[in-house]
Amino acid sequence: MIRLENIHKSYKTGKNSLHVLKGIDMHIKKGEMVSIMGSSGSGKSTLLNILGMLDNYDEGEYHLQDTLIKNLSETKAAQYRSQFLGFIFQSFNLINFKSAAENVALPLYYQKVPRKKRVELAHEYLDKVGLLEWAEHTPNELSGGQKQRVAIARALIANPRVILADEPTGALDSTTSDEVMQVLRKVNQEGMTIVIVTHENDIAAKTDRLIRLKDGMIIGKELTSSSI
Ligand code: ADP
Ligand code: MG
Repeated sequence: MIRLENIHKSYKTGKNSLHVLKGIDMHIKKGEMVSIMGSSGSGKSTLLNILGMLDNYDEGEYHLQDTLIKNLSETKAAQYRSQFLGFIFQSFNLINFKSAAENVALPLYYQKVPRKKRVELAHEYLDKVGLLEWAEHTPNELSGGQKQRVAIARALIANPRVILADEPTGALDSTTSDEVMQVLRKVNQEGMTIVIVTHENDIAAKTDRLIRLKDGMIIGKELTSSSI
């Protein structure tokens, strides 16, 4: 599903250049639930942004479902993103003045799905994450774990090939983190490929496979105990 070969990325700040990713090779199969782990500054978000077509890379190749993702125009990247990818962020990124259902329906609005169908699907996906009764509530009426479940429903509604999550439990306590990981696992068991960036051991342990990043290089790939 995801194939990275020798990916390099540098940030240029003025005259200086910071070499952040130093030859990343990574294969993620369809239906896998994988975590990318590393300390702060190791390049996790940079890597996820490249996977999410939110940023370009300098060297190497990235194939997503056999499509080479390289030097895409902004329009093409946006088109591929909405077709292939669902995003989950640490800070939820929900719109506070819109209801849970409206938040979930948003990706379909951009795909010009008719309103009636959007509302119907939004409720279906809220039901999937156990929040049907909360459909008409706004985010400030929801707990952190509920907000992240709304964000998961929003990531799923456009039927992406892959879910990319950057520290999805980073703003949650351990009980609500569990709740969010359980929802992600359920989604994975229905066939979704999921990539989770985290710096927490117990979150990584709940995925099938762990890729360790340090200073922009992969220093280890291992199966977790939950995969056995
Ligand atoms: P992580 O998510 O693992 O904490 P990041 O990928 O965010 O790491 O950052 C890796 C390194 O790249 C850090 O040293 C960070 O300061 C630097 N960096 C990240 N984004 C930018 C940017 N847009 N411009 C310049 N440097 C950046
Ligand atoms: Mg980060």
